[in-house]
Amino acid sequence: MAAEIISGRDLAQELRQQMKQKVTELNNQGVFPKLSVILVGDNPASKSYVNGKKKACKETGILSDVIEMNHDTTEANLLQQIEKLNEDPTVHGILVQLPLPEQIREQKVIDTISYTKDVDGFHPINIGRMMTGEDAFLPCTPYGIITMLKSKDISIAGKHAVVVGRSNIVGKPVGQLLLNENATVTYCHSKTKNLAQITKQADILIAAVGKVNAIRAEHIKDGAVVVDVGINRLEDGSLTGDVDFNEAKEKASFITPVPRGVGPMTITMLLENTIKAAKGLENS
Ligand code: NDP
Repeated sequence: MAAEIISGRDLAQELRQQMKQKVTELNNQGVFPKLSVILVGDNPASKSYVNGKKKACKETGILSDVIEMNHDTTEANLLQQIEKLNEDPTVHGILVQLPLPEQIREQKVIDTISYTKDVDGFHPINIGRMMTGEDAFLPCTPYGIITMLKSKDISIAGKHAVVVGRSNIVGKPVGQLLLNENATVTYCHSKTKNLAQITKQADILIAAVGKVNAIRAEHIKDGAVVVDVGINRLEDGSLTGDVDFNEAKEKASFITPVPRGVGPMTITMLLENTIKAAKGLENS
Protein backbone atom coordinates (compact mmCIF):
# COMPACT_ATOMS: atom_id res chain seq x y z
CA MET A 1 0.00 0.00 0.00
CA ALA A 2 1.32 3.46 -0.85
CA ALA A 3 2.50 5.61 2.02
CA GLU A 4 0.49 8.47 3.48
CA ILE A 5 2.07 11.77 2.51
CA ILE A 6 2.77 14.25 5.30
CA SER A 7 2.24 17.62 3.69
CA GLY A 8 4.46 20.22 5.31
CA ARG A 9 2.72 22.86 3.26
CA ASP A 10 -0.75 22.07 4.68
CA LEU A 11 0.50 21.76 8.25
CA ALA A 12 2.48 25.00 7.89
CA GLN A 13 -0.65 26.80 6.71
CA GLU A 14 -2.68 25.49 9.64
CA LEU A 15 0.00 26.44 12.19
CA ARG A 16 0.45 29.91 10.68
CA GLN A 17 -3.29 30.54 11.06
CA GLN A 18 -3.00 29.68 14.76
CA MET A 19 0.06 31.92 15.06
CA LYS A 20 -1.83 34.89 13.62
CA GLN A 21 -4.18 34.55 16.56
CA LYS A 22 -1.29 34.39 19.05
CA VAL A 23 0.27 37.51 17.50
CA THR A 24 -3.04 39.38 17.77
CA GLU A 25 -3.28 38.42 21.44
CA LEU A 26 0.26 39.70 22.05
CA ASN A 27 -0.50 42.92 20.15
CA ASN A 28 -3.50 43.43 22.44
CA GLN A 29 -1.09 43.25 25.38
CA GLY A 30 1.15 45.86 23.72
CA VAL A 31 3.76 43.35 22.50
CA PHE A 32 4.69 43.46 18.80
CA PRO A 33 6.85 40.45 17.89
CA LYS A 34 9.69 41.51 15.62
CA LEU A 35 12.36 39.60 13.70
CA SER A 36 15.50 41.33 12.42
CA VAL A 37 17.34 39.58 9.64
CA ILE A 38 20.89 40.48 8.61
CA LEU A 39 21.84 39.70 5.03
CA VAL A 40 25.51 40.05 4.10
CA GLY A 41 26.31 40.23 0.39
CA ASP A 42 24.10 39.50 -2.58
CA ASN A 43 23.98 35.71 -2.88
CA PRO A 44 20.73 35.15 -4.86
CA ALA A 45 19.76 32.02 -2.89
CA SER A 46 20.24 33.85 0.43
CA LYS A 47 18.23 36.80 -0.87
CA SER A 48 15.39 34.54 -1.85
CA TYR A 49 15.42 32.76 1.58
CA VAL A 50 15.36 36.16 3.32
CA ASN A 51 12.45 37.32 1.15
CA GLY A 52 10.56 34.13 2.02
CA LYS A 53 11.08 34.80 5.73
CA LYS A 54 9.99 38.43 5.38
CA LYS A 55 6.82 37.42 3.54
CA ALA A 56 5.98 34.73 6.11
CA CYS A 57 6.40 37.25 8.95
CA LYS A 58 4.09 39.70 7.21
CA GLU A 59 1.39 37.07 6.66
CA THR A 60 1.49 36.17 10.36
CA GLY A 61 1.50 39.76 11.63
CA ILE A 62 5.10 39.56 12.86
CA LEU A 63 7.14 42.72 12.23
CA SER A 64 10.38 42.21 10.36
CA ASP A 65 13.24 44.21 8.99
CA VAL A 66 16.13 43.21 6.79
CA ILE A 67 19.51 44.85 7.35
CA GLU A 68 21.62 44.51 4.22
CA MET A 69 25.39 44.71 4.54
CA ASN A 70 28.05 44.75 1.84
CA HIS A 71 29.81 41.56 0.80
CA ASP A 72 33.14 43.05 1.95
CA THR A 73 31.88 44.19 5.34
CA THR A 74 34.24 43.33 8.22
CA GLU A 75 33.49 40.84 10.97
CA ALA A 76 33.78 43.68 13.51
CA ASN A 77 31.09 45.67 11.68
CA LEU A 78 28.74 42.72 11.63
CA LEU A 79 29.31 41.95 15.32
CA GLN A 80 28.64 45.62 16.15
CA GLN A 81 25.36 45.44 14.25
CA ILE A 82 24.37 42.30 16.16
CA GLU A 83 25.20 43.97 19.50
CA LYS A 84 22.92 46.86 18.53
CA LEU A 85 20.06 44.45 17.89
CA ASN A 86 20.82 42.55 21.13
CA GLU A 87 20.23 45.79 23.02
CA ASP A 88 17.15 46.91 21.09
CA PRO A 89 14.08 46.00 23.19
CA THR A 90 11.77 46.23 20.15
CA VAL A 91 13.67 43.37 18.44
CA HIS A 92 12.78 39.89 19.73
CA GLY A 93 14.47 37.63 17.20
CA ILE A 94 17.78 38.00 15.35
CA LEU A 95 18.77 35.90 12.37
CA VAL A 96 21.97 36.22 10.37
CA GLN A 97 21.46 34.54 7.00
CA LEU A 98 24.14 31.92 6.33
CA PRO A 99 26.50 31.33 4.59
CA LEU A 100 28.69 34.35 5.29
CA PRO A 101 31.59 35.72 3.23
CA GLU A 102 34.91 34.08 4.08
CA GLN A 103 36.37 37.02 6.07
CA ILE A 104 33.68 36.46 8.72
CA ARG A 105 33.80 33.58 11.21
CA GLU A 106 30.37 31.98 11.34
CA GLN A 107 30.70 30.60 14.88
CA LYS A 108 31.81 34.00 16.22
CA VAL A 109 28.66 35.52 14.73
CA ILE A 110 26.38 32.84 16.21
CA ASP A 111 28.07 33.24 19.62
CA THR A 112 27.47 37.02 19.56
CA ILE A 113 23.70 36.82 19.08
CA SER A 114 22.02 36.96 22.50
CA TYR A 115 20.75 33.43 23.21
CA THR A 116 17.43 35.00 24.25
CA LYS A 117 16.99 36.30 20.67
CA ASP A 118 18.57 33.32 18.87
CA VAL A 119 15.47 32.22 16.95
CA ASP A 120 17.54 29.95 14.67
CA GLY A 121 18.50 27.90 17.73
CA PHE A 122 22.18 27.74 16.77
CA HIS A 123 23.70 29.41 19.87
CA PRO A 124 25.70 27.02 22.07
CA ILE A 125 23.49 27.87 25.08
CA ASN A 126 20.36 26.86 23.18
CA ILE A 127 22.05 23.71 21.89
CA GLY A 128 23.12 22.83 25.45
CA ARG A 129 19.64 23.50 26.80
CA MET A 130 18.13 21.36 24.05
CA MET A 131 20.42 18.52 25.17
CA THR A 132 19.54 18.84 28.84
CA GLY A 133 15.85 19.31 28.05
CA GLU A 134 15.60 22.87 29.43
CA ASP A 135 13.53 25.54 27.71
CA ALA A 136 15.36 26.58 24.54
CA PHE A 137 14.94 27.83 21.03
CA LEU A 138 15.00 24.64 18.99
CA PRO A 139 16.67 24.72 15.57
CA CYS A 140 13.92 25.27 13.02
CA THR A 141 14.31 22.31 10.64
CA PRO A 142 14.58 19.62 13.35
CA TYR A 143 11.75 21.29 15.31
CA GLY A 144 9.65 21.25 12.13
CA ILE A 145 10.34 17.54 11.60
CA ILE A 146 9.23 16.59 15.14
CA THR A 147 6.12 18.77 14.69
CA MET A 148 5.29 16.93 11.44
CA LEU A 149 5.61 13.52 13.13
CA LYS A 150 3.44 14.62 16.05
CA SER A 151 0.80 16.06 13.71
CA LYS A 152 0.19 12.52 12.46
CA ASP A 153 0.31 11.00 15.96
CA ILE A 154 3.34 8.97 14.93
CA SER A 155 4.70 7.45 18.12
CA ILE A 156 8.40 8.08 18.66
CA ALA A 157 9.06 6.56 22.10
CA GLY A 158 10.81 3.21 21.85
CA LYS A 159 11.15 3.45 18.07
CA HIS A 160 14.47 3.06 16.29
CA ALA A 161 15.22 6.35 14.54
CA VAL A 162 18.08 6.41 12.04
CA VAL A 163 19.39 9.82 11.00
CA VAL A 164 21.50 9.96 7.85
CA GLY A 165 23.58 13.16 8.13
CA ARG A 166 25.26 14.78 11.12
CA SER A 167 25.42 18.50 10.39
CA ASN A 168 25.05 20.94 13.25
CA ILE A 169 21.88 22.45 11.80
CA VAL A 170 19.95 19.31 10.82
CA GLY A 171 21.37 15.84 11.48
CA LYS A 172 22.76 16.20 15.01
CA PRO A 173 19.87 18.22 16.48
CA VAL A 174 17.11 16.12 14.90
CA GLY A 175 18.72 13.03 16.46
CA GLN A 176 18.82 14.81 19.82
CA LEU A 177 15.15 15.82 19.60
CA LEU A 178 14.19 12.25 18.71
CA LEU A 179 16.21 11.05 21.71
CA ASN A 180 14.41 13.61 23.90
CA GLU A 181 11.19 11.94 22.67
CA ASN A 182 12.60 8.58 23.85
CA ALA A 183 13.55 7.10 20.48
CA THR A 184 16.61 4.89 20.16
CA VAL A 185 18.79 6.90 17.80
CA THR A 186 21.50 5.86 15.34
CA TYR A 187 23.48 8.39 13.29
CA CYS A 188 24.92 7.60 9.86
CA HIS A 189 27.27 9.76 7.80
CA SER A 190 29.71 9.62 4.91
CA LYS A 191 32.06 7.24 6.75
CA THR A 192 29.29 4.81 7.72
CA LYS A 193 29.82 1.31 6.37
CA ASN A 194 26.91 -0.74 5.03
CA LEU A 195 24.46 2.16 5.15
CA ALA A 196 21.50 0.14 3.88
CA GLN A 197 21.96 -2.51 6.60
CA ILE A 198 21.54 0.19 9.25
CA THR A 199 18.83 2.29 7.62
CA LYS A 200 16.79 -0.87 7.02
CA GLN A 201 16.39 -1.19 10.78
CA ALA A 202 14.78 2.21 11.06
CA ASP A 203 11.19 2.67 12.19
CA ILE A 204 11.78 6.38 11.54
CA LEU A 205 14.30 7.27 8.86
CA ILE A 206 15.53 10.85 8.47
CA ALA A 207 17.50 11.67 5.31
CA ALA A 208 19.57 14.87 5.62
CA VAL A 209 22.36 14.20 3.16
CA GLY A 210 22.07 16.62 0.24
CA LYS A 211 22.37 13.92 -2.44
CA VAL A 212 19.78 12.84 -4.97
CA ASN A 213 18.62 9.23 -4.46
CA ALA A 214 20.84 8.71 -1.40
CA ILE A 215 17.92 6.68 -0.01
CA ARG A 216 16.22 4.08 -2.19
CA ALA A 217 13.88 1.12 -1.66
CA GLU A 218 16.80 -1.07 -0.50
CA HIS A 219 17.43 1.33 2.44
CA ILE A 220 13.88 1.23 3.78
CA LYS A 221 12.08 -1.23 6.06
CA ASP A 222 8.45 -1.99 5.19
CA GLY A 223 6.19 0.37 7.09
CA ALA A 224 8.93 2.85 8.06
CA VAL A 225 8.26 6.57 8.44
CA VAL A 226 10.52 8.40 5.97
CA VAL A 227 11.38 12.08 6.37
CA ASP A 228 13.23 13.66 3.45
CA VAL A 229 15.08 16.83 4.45
CA GLY A 230 17.25 17.10 1.34
CA ILE A 231 16.85 19.95 -1.13
CA ASN A 232 18.64 19.25 -4.38
CA ARG A 233 18.23 21.25 -7.57
CA LEU A 234 18.09 19.21 -10.77
CA GLU A 235 19.43 20.38 -14.14
CA ASP A 236 15.93 21.37 -15.27
CA GLY A 237 15.68 23.69 -12.24
CA SER A 238 13.20 21.54 -10.31
CA LEU A 239 13.75 20.53 -6.68
CA THR A 240 14.08 17.01 -5.36
CA GLY A 241 14.99 15.43 -2.05
CA ASP A 242 17.48 12.79 -0.93
CA VAL A 243 14.94 9.97 -1.17
CA ASP A 244 13.77 8.24 -4.33
CA PHE A 245 10.16 9.18 -3.65
CA ASN A 246 8.52 6.76 -6.09
CA GLU A 247 10.37 3.76 -4.70
CA ALA A 248 10.07 4.85 -1.07
CA LYS A 249 6.35 5.52 -1.11
CA GLU A 250 5.70 1.86 -1.92
CA LYS A 251 7.49 0.73 1.24
CA ALA A 252 6.95 3.50 3.80
CA SER A 253 3.88 4.01 5.99
CA PHE A 254 4.37 7.80 5.98
CA ILE A 255 6.61 9.95 3.81
CA THR A 256 7.38 13.66 3.46
CA PRO A 257 7.59 15.01 -0.12
CA VAL A 258 10.07 17.49 -1.63
CA PRO A 259 9.04 20.20 -2.26
CA ARG A 260 6.15 20.98 0.13
CA GLY A 261 7.52 18.80 2.92
CA VAL A 262 10.05 19.83 5.54
CA GLY A 263 10.89 23.13 3.77
CA PRO A 264 7.70 25.08 4.62
CA MET A 265 7.91 23.79 8.20
CA THR A 266 11.37 25.32 8.69
CA ILE A 267 10.12 28.89 8.18
CA THR A 268 7.02 28.13 10.23
CA MET A 269 9.12 27.14 13.23
CA LEU A 270 11.14 30.33 12.81
CA LEU A 271 7.88 32.25 13.21
CA GLU A 272 7.00 30.11 16.24
CA ASN A 273 10.41 30.87 17.79
CA THR A 274 9.98 34.60 17.15
CA ILE A 275 6.64 34.55 18.98
CA LYS A 276 8.30 32.59 21.78
CA ALA A 277 11.08 35.21 21.93
CA ALA A 278 8.50 38.00 22.18
CA LYS A 279 6.95 36.26 25.17
CA GLY A 280 10.44 35.77 26.62
CA LEU A 281 12.35 32.50 26.88
CA GLU A 282 11.08 30.66 29.97
CA ASN A 283 7.79 32.61 29.92
CA SER A 284 6.39 31.03 26.78
P1 NDP B 1 25.63 19.04 5.13
O1 NDP B 1 26.28 18.99 3.81
O2 NDP B 1 26.15 19.96 6.19
O3 NDP B 1 25.61 17.56 5.76
C1 NDP B 1 25.37 16.43 4.98
C2 NDP B 1 25.55 15.19 5.82
O4 NDP B 1 25.34 14.06 4.99
C3 NDP B 1 26.97 15.06 6.41
O5 NDP B 1 26.89 14.69 7.76
C4 NDP B 1 27.62 13.96 5.57
O6 NDP B 1 28.54 13.15 6.27
C5 NDP B 1 26.41 13.12 5.19
N1 NDP B 1 26.64 12.38 3.94
C6 NDP B 1 27.12 12.84 2.77
N2 NDP B 1 27.18 11.84 1.87
C7 NDP B 1 26.73 10.73 2.50
C8 NDP B 1 26.55 9.39 2.07
N3 NDP B 1 26.86 9.00 0.84
N4 NDP B 1 26.07 8.51 2.97
C9 NDP B 1 25.74 8.90 4.22
N5 NDP B 1 25.89 10.17 4.67
C10 NDP B 1 26.38 11.06 3.81
O7 NDP B 1 24.11 19.33 4.84
P2 NDP B 1 22.91 19.88 5.78
O8 NDP B 1 22.73 18.99 6.96
O9 NDP B 1 23.05 21.32 5.97
O10 NDP B 1 21.69 19.66 4.77
C11 NDP B 1 21.33 18.38 4.30
C12 NDP B 1 20.31 18.54 3.21
O11 NDP B 1 19.14 19.14 3.76
C13 NDP B 1 20.73 19.47 2.08
O12 NDP B 1 20.15 18.99 0.87
C14 NDP B 1 20.10 20.79 2.44
O13 NDP B 1 19.84 21.60 1.31
C15 NDP B 1 18.83 20.34 3.07
N6 NDP B 1 18.27 21.27 4.04
C16 NDP B 1 16.94 21.44 3.99
C17 NDP B 1 16.31 22.27 4.88
C18 NDP B 1 14.84 22.40 4.82
O14 NDP B 1 14.30 23.35 5.34
N7 NDP B 1 14.13 21.47 4.17
C19 NDP B 1 17.07 23.05 5.87
C20 NDP B 1 18.47 22.73 5.90
C21 NDP B 1 19.03 21.87 4.99
P3 NDP B 1 29.93 13.73 6.89
O15 NDP B 1 29.54 14.46 8.13
O16 NDP B 1 30.72 12.52 7.16
O17 NDP B 1 30.52 14.62 5.84
